Amino acid sequence: MFDLIIIGAGPAGITAAYEAKRHGISHLVIEKGLIGNTIYNYPVGLTVFSTTNELEIGEGRLSPAREKPTREELLSYYVRIVLDNELNVRTEEKVLGVEKLADHFRIITDKDNYESLAVLFAMGSMDYPRCLNVKGEGLSKVHFQFRETYPWVKKRALIVGGGNSAGEAALFLAQEGAETTLAIFREDWENTDPKQGCIKYWVKQPLEKELQQKCLNLFFLGEVIEIREAEVELESETGERVILPNDVVFVLIGSDADLTMLKDIGVETVVGKYGAIPVYDEVTFETNVPGVYVAGHFTAQRHIKGAIDASKQLIPQLAARIHSLK
Ligand SMILES: Cc1cc2nc3c(=O)[nH]c(=O)nc-3n(C[C@H](O)[C@H](O)[C@H](O)COP(=O)(O)OP(=O)(O)OC[C@H]3O[C@@H](n4cnc5c(N)ncnc54)[C@H](O)[C@@H]3O)c2cc1C
Repeated sequence: MFDLIIIGAGPAGITAAYEAKRHGISHLVIEKGLIGNTIYNYPVGLTVFSTTNELEIGEGRLSPAREKPTREELLSYYVRIVLDNELNVRTEEKVLGVEKLADHFRIITDKDNYESLAVLFAMGSMDYPRCLNVKGEGLSKVHFQFRETYPWVKKRALIVGGGNSAGEAALFLAQEGAETTLAIFREDWENTDPKQGCIKYWVKQPLEKELQQKCLNLFFLGEVIEIREAEVELESETGERVILPNDVVFVLIGSDADLTMLKDIGVETVVGKYGAIPVYDEVTFETNVPGVYVAGHFTAQRHIKGAIDASKQLIPQLAARIHSLK
């Protein structure tokens, strides 16, 4: 019987494990992929937009070579936190369900079953990449994540999306010699409000340079009509149909969490700005089901700092409660 089982080894889950150890409660983190799996899936070599103080969990400083860390530096930092602090993390094991028993929980994975007094869902929101729902989206040339540029040098690439991930993918591809088209709603291209998830200025400015140098095409999108083996059919914001020759498509329009496990044990959800999120107390991070906690990207906290801060706030309170029960 563990005091706390944590689902997910992203920044929220690793911080929770680190704090659980510091506050003397036993823990197990179950991760379906690798430590820091969402970061592992960032584009290779990406420089993240957060500063080190927003990304650090505890001791063991994050010391990037430049001002901000790369994907690789950030990933190594979180891996070192797990190893140096001997956090109890099981990777490549997927949680399939959680059962609420009389006074504790049973966590069922694809490898084993475990029991705990409390459970923290820190599972991020990468489970369901959003789709365009258009004909041809199932073709193998259509990707919902952007990992690296080199396979696409001299290829005709279309990126569909209006946020920073789409902007970064378009920039990397244009800079590395792909024939790149960014299909974006005009309001997203013109959006400069960081709170509304705009393309960050340090991505937008070089994108504008690529545009001036004619290394990037911008297409103000009405809708994507169809993706075919060697071309894509788009409708512009003014209703004009255009067919572009095409080798690869990146659909980068966000992703949603899978809240099924939470709903199955009675956790209430609400539809917020970014889609459905669990209902929880903003001080304790406990849901309406006693003993079930949430933290990180699939709550209202969309960035790493928020994920870390949530776990730092919730664990001391939870630990005090668990100690008082013993
Ligand atoms: C390209 C890109 C760049 C970004 N750059 C930044 C940045 O610079 N700064 C910033 O603050 N944010 C950035 N973000 C967002 C940031 O990655 C998230 O806010 C952060 O990862 C949230 O941490 P988390 O622990 O809540 O979730 P995640 O890091 O998503 O961790 C959740 C973990 O849970 C695991 N999991 C899910 N379901 C299960 C299951 N059933 N069983 C077991 N394990 C499960 C997942 O595999 C995952 O490892 C970026 C995102 C992307 C895509």
